[in-house]
Amino acid sequence: MPKSRAATAAAPFTGNIRPVQDQFGRALRDLRISVTDRCNFRCQYCMPRRIFGSAYPFLEPGELLTFEEIARVAKVFVRAGVGKLRITGGEPLLRPRLPELLQTLAAIEGVEDIALTTNGSLLEKQAPLLRAAGLHRLTVSLDALDGAIFQAMSDTNVPVETVLAGIEAAAAAGFAPIKINVVVKRGLNEPQILPLALNFSRPGFVVRFIEYMDVGNTNGWRLADVVPSAEILETLQQHAPLERLPAKSPGETARRYRFQGGEGELGIIASVTQPFCQNCTRARISADGRLHTCLFSEAGLDLKSRLRDGSSDEALFGLIGSVWSGRSDRYSDLRASVSQSRSKTEMSVLGG
Ligand code: SAM
Ligand code: SF4
Ligand code: SF4
Repeated sequence: MPKSRAATAAAPFTGNIRPVQDQFGRALRDLRISVTDRCNFRCQYCMPRRIFGSAYPFLEPGELLTFEEIARVAKVFVRAGVGKLRITGGEPLLRPRLPELLQTLAAIEGVEDIALTTNGSLLEKQAPLLRAAGLHRLTVSLDALDGAIFQAMSDTNVPVETVLAGIEAAAAAGFAPIKINVVVKRGLNEPQILPLALNFSRPGFVVRFIEYMDVGNTNGWRLADVVPSAEILETLQQHAPLERLPAKSPGETARRYRFQGGEGELGIIASVTQPFCQNCTRARISADGRLHTCLFSEAGLDLKSRLRDGSSDEALFGLIGSVWSGRSDRYSDLRASVSQSRSKTEMSVLGG
């Protein structure tokens, strides 16, 4: 049963860290920040081109949070217990001057870790700049090594070789381990599971296979298109037996494995068949400056207006605390009983 509302939301802001807990006792530890809703890919599971075409009303620059606003929000979240930030999008590397934002965020007292998720297309040039700006960790999304399958998944003219060169540039710039995110969709990239696992089964890389999710309302998600984690594991085991690795932290979303006697790490994120809502400690700020407490949330809370109406940091802290302490989200636990006609926010706005 949900706990009663935590008192922390109403507590005065003193500048000290005042952790908040939600209705199920989950702490607020991670903040994902989407810095743009635009992308140079049209992955069919995220931004299908028939919807996100040339007439799509993307956000105007003035509708995005400024770097100053993002830094201010991040500081307030740190006071509420957040230690980890992840920059995402859309494609975050399309946001001009991103290293400046990273540098500012890295200097915030209490920020222990900053990660970024990218499609890798612009990484070759930017990797050293991101590293120099203080970015700690990097995740690159890559659904196939085969050029034709990569094109079919990502619907872009960027060749897969560009992404691979970006990954190597990131490794050369000192990012380690680099996580490779693979969304597996039935009938599309299942034959790429093993080649991807083998290619990145080496020191410095972690390949994570992600079950295709029903995020947003435009990707035409069907349960039949989800390749369950059990099947992904079976495919991997056709190559060699897997050994399970212990969780690094209690709230970890991926189950970790390694080929017996091999190097590198494999992970499975079974968001659909084995949801992990009970450990979910993430808040999200969408590209349009709204606070969401679940990947499958609807409208979110308009933080941008509060940032622009003269509200004090103390008022923002109270607002964020009260939203989190009232949170009872567990969409993936309840997926089967939730209506798919709900108006969910798109992944490209919310950030993965
Ligand atoms: N553009 C960047 C990228 O692709 O890495 C960052 C944003 S993207 C929305 C973040 C992550 O969400 C990516 O790893 C992507 O594969 C994943 N993603 C997008 N749509 C998804 C879906 N329907 N199911 C599972 N993962 C999804
Ligand atoms: Fe773009 Fe990332 Fe979405 Fe693909 S998953 S369309 S790269 S935002
Ligand atoms: Fe967290 Fe919502 Fe995903 Fe559950 S469904 S793990 S509450 S983001």
